[in-house]
Amino acid sequence: MLIITRQQWLKIVNEAWRVYPLEACGLLLGSIDAESSTANVERFVPIDNAAASAKLYALEGSQFSKTALSADREGLEIVGVVHSHTHTRAYPSQTDVSEGTRPLVPPDWHWPILSLAGGFPELRSFQFDQKSDDKSSDSVGIVEEPIRFLE
Ligand SMILES: [Zn+2]
Repeated sequence: MLIITRQQWLKIVNEAWRVYPLEACGLLLGSIDAESSTANVERFVPIDNAAASAKLYALEGSQFSKTALSADREGLEIVGVVHSHTHTRAYPSQTDVSEGTRPLVPPDWHWPILSLAGGFPELRSFQFDQKSDDKSSDSVGIVEEPIRFLE
């Protein structure tokens, strides 16, 4: 489950419209309860899309490092990566799955996607379940998780 406040959700929506029609992306900071696989999102930090693309995203490296360091100092962890889809529905693309299952990417991260394709923001959230050592993305299960909005 992904738990997020309406305020942080609004920040994601704002960022997605700000960079539209390019894809927006950013880090989600907070805490993860490993047992229940629940991410508690306390903060959304927008990161430049280094790909500057309407079809894919790449978190800009130096902003990523800076955010990871300051999160560490504040006792927060990176709980996932959020990005927007401007022309397709809120479901992981093949590229999204490959990105999310690269070596060194923590398997407990959460991957919400905000779609603007319908003309209004739709947020859905996913986790990737790499079942075998077969690294092809065909072997990855895409698991949708519920989202709980807090005031
Ligand atoms: Zn995507």
